[in-house]
Amino acid sequence: MTVSLRTLDDGAWVSVADERRVGASELWYVAGICACPVADFVVEGITDVAVDGRTVAAETYGTCIRCGEGVSTDPVPVGRLVAGAFEPLAAGAVRVPGGADGGRQVSPASGTSGED
Ligand SMILES: [Zn+2]
Repeated sequence: MTVSLRTLDDGAWVSVADERRVGASELWYVAGICACPVADFVVEGITDVAVDGRTVAAETYGTCIRCGEGVSTDPVPVGRLVAGAFEPLAAGAVRVPGGADGGRQVSPASGTSGED
């Protein structure tokens, strides 16, 4: 079953099956994106979203409010598809960019337009 995934409103939202499910200004715990073991990452925008297996992951940019570093992330899991329905990750979950599922290469500088 195919579920439509896209970003809306200039990256303010991830839309899953035409519903806004994940949005900028959320606070995520994300491992490995800055000097912190786990970042307190405030999402400022979503640049891409994709599904890999059942995992829905979004490329985002934002700021770690723990150390103040601005980062662009590799795809960060935001939820999964279960029987065609979206299940968001628990708010307190620690997210690991790059995808445990996908085996996609994590490259340090992938030529995205992150400035600053
Ligand atoms: Zn940090």
